[in-house]
Amino acid sequence: MTAPGAPLELARRPAPRPRPGGAVLETIASEVCGTDVHLHHGRLSGVPYPIIPGHVSVGRVAETNGPLADVDGRPVVAGDVVTFYDVYGVCGACWHCLVARSATRCPHRRVYGITAPASEGLLGGWSDAIEILPGVRVARLPQGLDPEDFLGGGCGLPTGFHAIERAGVAMGDTVVVQGSGPVGLNAAIFAQLSGAASVLVVGAPRARLDAARRLGADDALDIGEVRDPAGRVRWVRDRTSGRGADVVVEASGNPAAVPEGLEMLRDGGRYVVVGQYTDGGDATINPHRHVNRKHATILGCWGYEFSHLHRSIAMMAKHRERFRWRELVTREYPLERAGDALADMERLSVVKALIRPKSS
Ligand SMILES: [Zn+2]
Ligand SMILES: [Zn+2]
Repeated sequence: MTAPGAPLELARRPAPRPRPGGAVLETIASEVCGTDVHLHHGRLSGVPYPIIPGHVSVGRVAETNGPLADVDGRPVVAGDVVTFYDVYGVCGACWHCLVARSATRCPHRRVYGITAPASEGLLGGWSDAIEILPGVRVARLPQGLDPEDFLGGGCGLPTGFHAIERAGVAMGDTVVVQGSGPVGLNAAIFAQLSGAASVLVVGAPRARLDAARRLGADDALDIGEVRDPAGRVRWVRDRTSGRGADVVVEASGNPAAVPEGLEMLRDGGRYVVVGQYTDGGDATINPHRHVNRKHATILGCWGYEFSHLHRSIAMMAKHRERFRWRELVTREYPLERAGDALADMERLSVVKALIRPKSS
């Protein structure tokens, strides 16, 4: 991806050798997500184009340079099928890392496929090979979990997990999820696994709401059918004895969802904003009604840490029969058709799309 708006270009690079302490993966598949569409429109600041897109990926270890181990200390060797925490550069030495202990806000943090310049190596999954830089955490896929299962969750898996952790869902809660993309769907899953008694999804289009129902949502509202925000708030209140939900998770990306979601929240409830990954503009809330008098807790949720990736994979391995993540993979594309994948993602004709370099 050479620049915002420019067609994707296929480029040839010398095969990488692992740096000391690093590795090289032969890419099995990499996801396509809404972030890639945003990147292509230049909606993210600080992106060092040209980049190789693809931040969450699965590959087979081709070569390591020195011993590599997973977080449990077990060696990772050539032939292992792994994913990796797609972040590098977090310094562990700055104020954000050490004092605030908010590693996702470290100014040195770089993300594969997003803020990794192509000039620094094969640091994106839309490529035959991926360089694992020294220090990047590799995670073996657990027994019984295929790359398609994991990538059906994709970056939405740890992101949805993180959002639900932030929300502090309690057993018996009613949770509303605004947005039925991968983050929203995974939030709906993890809300159930956290003990929510009822999960309501508000989103579009129909195929994604059908997926939400298959994934256990108790009810789903199509915003294409109920276009009036007041009607959508009423829909939630009708299902919560008029009170509103204990927890509302915003995973839609539309700023207007925030005041609407605060209307859906009960007094004393918790509201988590995870969908505003790019700057979609402003929204107006009423501080008296929405925050102060409501006694609301409002939380942001930026990125995820290795901990979220590790634990969400463990949950996926245990619950993969109940929640069919792999069925969220709607289409696969060879590298040459990555531009089509972006276009299909943009018009929401796919839930999750994969780039599969070797099928080309
Ligand atoms: Zn730092
Ligand atoms: Zn993603």
